[in-house]
Amino acid sequence: MNNSGFNFVGTIGYDNPDSLCPVPDYFVPSSSFYKNDTIDLILHDENFRNNSVTKLSGSIQIPTEVYDEWGLIDENPEKWANFEKLHVYLEQTFPLFHKNLKKEKIYSGLIYTWEGSDSNLKPLLLMAHQDVVPVQIETIKDWTHEPFSGYYDGEFVWGRGTSDCKNLLIALMETIEELIKVDFAPKRTIILSFGADEESAGRSAFLLAKKLEERYGQNSMYAIIDEGTGFTESNGKIFAMPAVAEKGYLDAVISLTTPGGHSSIPPDHTSIGIVSELIQLAESNPFAPLLTNVNPILGFLQCVAEHCPSIDKSLKKNILKAHLDIDANQKVIEYLEKKSLASKYLITTSQAVDVIQGGAKSNALPEHVSVLINYRIAVESTYLEVAENVTGHLKQVADKYNLGIVREGEELLKPSGNGYFNFTYNDPLEAAPITPTNDKAWEVLSGTLRHFYEKMVYPTRFENDDYLIVAPAMSTGNTDTKSYWKLSDNIYRFTPESWKEYDSHAHSVDEKIDFESHLQIIAFFYEYILNVDGIKDEVNVVI
Ligand SMILES: [Zn+2]
Repeated sequence: MNNSGFNFVGTIGYDNPDSLCPVPDYFVPSSSFYKNDTIDLILHDENFRNNSVTKLSGSIQIPTEVYDEWGLIDENPEKWANFEKLHVYLEQTFPLFHKNLKKEKIYSGLIYTWEGSDSNLKPLLLMAHQDVVPVQIETIKDWTHEPFSGYYDGEFVWGRGTSDCKNLLIALMETIEELIKVDFAPKRTIILSFGADEESAGRSAFLLAKKLEERYGQNSMYAIIDEGTGFTESNGKIFAMPAVAEKGYLDAVISLTTPGGHSSIPPDHTSIGIVSELIQLAESNPFAPLLTNVNPILGFLQCVAEHCPSIDKSLKKNILKAHLDIDANQKVIEYLEKKSLASKYLITTSQAVDVIQGGAKSNALPEHVSVLINYRIAVESTYLEVAENVTGHLKQVADKYNLGIVREGEELLKPSGNGYFNFTYNDPLEAAPITPTNDKAWEVLSGTLRHFYEKMVYPTRFENDDYLIVAPAMSTGNTDTKSYWKLSDNIYRFTPESWKEYDSHAHSVDEKIDFESHLQIIAFFYEYILNVDGIKDEVNVVI
C-alpha cells in the first residue's frame, strides 16, 4: 500500500480484532501511470468534459430498447438493428480502444479483452449493458427533452439510458482509452462484457458468461463489477454501498381446475372462492424476517453503529450484539420493520399476489382459475423452501375440499372428482452467493473508494478527520451478474456517482444523469484498474 504524501486518517479498526466494520487504509496506485493530474483532468477539465458529453450523448441517440420476449438476433434481426448501429458508433467513437482490445460478438452481446502480460493473474471483469428500457409512446410529450436526444443542459445529460446504464458502458470505454493514451499496458487481463437484454430476459449475458466460463473456467476472475448501488448518508456519515448480495426470485403459478356447471346450482365454493381462500391463507401467514450474520444489512448496520457517534445508544448496543444475542437481534429486526417497508423486505421474503384469472360467464361455474404469486426470497432462504411453504397452504385447502395437487408435474395428492391444483415454478432464481467483505479484494475496492472520494473528488468534505465508510449493501433486483456467479466470488454491483441530491428517474420519464457522476465513473475506474493491476493474486486471501 502506498500512502505517501497524504495527510490521511489511516486504517480504522483493522488493528482492533473486535471491529465489525474496519475501514481500510487508502489504496493508491504505485504505478508510474498514476498521476493526480490525470484524475484532476478527467474530473475538472472543460475540454475533457465536453468531449465526454458528446460521446455519451451520441450513444443515447441510438435507441437500443428491448421489450419482453424480444428473441435472439437470428430470430428477429430487424429488432436488433439499433444494436448494430451502436456497435458501429462505438467503433467510430473509440478507435484506440478498438485497436487495442479484442472484440467478440455473441448475437448483440459484446466481449472486449485487453490481454494482460501476465496470464497467471486472474482477469478483472467489468460489466454494463447496452440495452435500455423502452420509452412508452404516450409519455414522450411528458419529457422535458426528447428521450433519445442526449440533450446536455450544462449540468445533466437527458435521455433514456443516461443513468441505466449507457453512462457506465461509455465511461468504461473512456477509461480504457485514457489508459491507452498514456501507454499503459496491463499485466492483468481486463475484460469488458456488455449484455444486450439486461432489461428483458438477460439471455445475452447468459451467453457471454458461458463463453467466458468456457475460456477461463470457474472462479477465474479476480473480481466482477457491474452496475449497482452508489452512496447513502446516514447519521452524518457518507457510505459507499457496493451490493454484495441479491435476493432470490420465484413466480409461483397455481391453477385450480374444477368441474363446470350451471350457476343456478352451484357448490358452496366455486374454484374462485377456493383460490381466494388459498390467497387469504398465504397473506395471513407472511414470511418471518431473518437477520443472520451473512446478511449484508447487518453488515451495513454494524458499520453505522461503529462509525456514527450520533446513533441512538440502545440501538447501537443492540446492533453490535445482534449477531450473538437473540433479544438484541429481535430488537434490530423490529427497528428495521418499523423503519420502512423497503427495510423490512431487505431481511424478509416478500410475497405479492400479482395476477389472477378465472371465470368466463355469469351463468357458468368457473372451471379454471389461476393465480401468480411473486416471491423475492431472503438471502438466507431458497426457492424450494418457498415452494414448500406454498405447498403447505395448498395441502390445507386441498384437504378441506378434497382436491388433488400436482407440483411441477409430480402428483402430490391424487386429483379427485372435485378437481386439482396445478403448481408450477416460473423463473426460479436462488439468492446470489454473498460476496465476502473480509478479504483482500474488498479491501482494495474500499481503499480505492476512500482515496478517490476523500482525496480526489470531495477533499473539503473530509478535511476534519472525517472519512468515507464502505459498507455492504443488497439489491432487491437482479443485474446481469446473475449469469456470472460461477466466474468469481467477488461480485460487486456498484456505480460511482456524485453526491448531488436529485432523482435520476431511471426507467421513467425524464431519465437524466448529473455529468459529474459520469466523469467520476471514468476517473474511479482509471484508479481502480491501476490498483488491481499492481497487486498479486496470492495476497487475495481472507484476512
Ligand atoms: Zn441497468
